[in-house]
Amino acid sequence: MPEAEALERRTTELLQRLIRFKTVNPPGDEEAAQHFLRDTLGAAGFECELLAAVEARPNLIARLPGGSDGPRLCLLGHVDTVLADPSDWSVDPWSGELRDGCVWGRGALDMKSQVAAEVAAATLLAGDGWRPEAGELMLVLTADEEAGAKRGARWLCGEHADKVRCDLVVNEGAGEVLPFEGRRYYGVCVAEKGVFRFTIATRGVAGHASVPRIGDNALTKMAPLLEAMRNGRPALEPSPEAEALVAALGLDAGDLESALREAESRDPRVAVLLEPMLGVTLAPTMIHASEKINVIPARAELSVDCRVPPGGDEEHTRARVREVLGEDGYELRFEESIVGNRSPIETPLMDAVRRYVESEDPGAEVTPVVLPGFSDSHWFRDAFPDCVAYGFFPQQAMDVFEAAPLAHGADERVPVEDLGMAARCYARLVQEVLG
Ligand SMILES: [Zn+2]
Repeated sequence: MPEAEALERRTTELLQRLIRFKTVNPPGDEEAAQHFLRDTLGAAGFECELLAAVEARPNLIARLPGGSDGPRLCLLGHVDTVLADPSDWSVDPWSGELRDGCVWGRGALDMKSQVAAEVAAATLLAGDGWRPEAGELMLVLTADEEAGAKRGARWLCGEHADKVRCDLVVNEGAGEVLPFEGRRYYGVCVAEKGVFRFTIATRGVAGHASVPRIGDNALTKMAPLLEAMRNGRPALEPSPEAEALVAALGLDAGDLESALREAESRDPRVAVLLEPMLGVTLAPTMIHASEKINVIPARAELSVDCRVPPGGDEEHTRARVREVLGEDGYELRFEESIVGNRSPIETPLMDAVRRYVESEDPGAEVTPVVLPGFSDSHWFRDAFPDCVAYGFFPQQAMDVFEAAPLAHGADERVPVEDLGMAARCYARLVQEVLG
């Protein structure tokens, strides 16, 4: 096991370097960062390959083969980030500045921190001469995660499946400590929700806006639909992940509605995070009607970002939407339909995570969680049905309530202590799984 201090220092330095590569997607521009990572991993003994769907946006695959056949463990990460408006920040978002015990900058949480911790753990191990006894250690560092992965993981898993085929994936998605009722929980993301974005259209009759009742206003027909989404939501849905999480929190897994009410009364912040893991969510985000202020619109369109628990399809989603919006008075058209997927909860990899948490934070618990959003784990589960893909970047100094608004927000930062913690985690998992 590499020394804890060396892991923390190397992770911190790597993260600072990575933040200084501006990889805001679009356009992404990941090439320089990927060359730096290739050189770093190559120097430690990894076989590296860059694969690009388009010029200047390569994905990096690095391998450290073992002596015999065995499991292939993939440490996954993306090097692109969302944008940042420097005027909202207290520091330059691409400075990688070290201040108040944290590294600051875009990507400090999502997810150059994890990439840095994975690379630090892998290179310190390999540099010390460690090799897998059996199987293979892979690092797959992708481009284009933040804009749909068409040039990243989705493309790799589709076009180069043989290059990225693996049995186990450790990726982003969870891991910050969740304090609740005096206990501490570390989430492991075992599932990603599906994405079913749709457009709601209402119809009327155009007319001159100076005589409102001469036409039939399609826009005002949106009012009851918006009102319904503000005041209601589809019923919660039992799932293995939802039930395991609710039970771990000491709530009634047999009645999710009452469990959520209970969470709300004990700590509303927990309820906010829990609710989207328990069912379909509807978030209306964009509306469009008349092109002119003096024309009553004959048609109005509302975009709704809808996220659906793993396994749910269009038909399932439609039924849930009807619970809230009723049967008629609108048309629904799906713009994007991606069925969410999951990995099993009880696996040797989960056991290894539990042993790690017990060693770092005795008495704390590990619980499966569902990612309300989306990550590259989805493409690996889709391409390799037996692959177990988890999201785990453990953080203790910064809890989930503090971290959640910072990812994609202003003043994104990560405590140096947490960088060390995550790097120790990956070094340990790699050695436990691969011998
Ligand atoms: Zn991310």
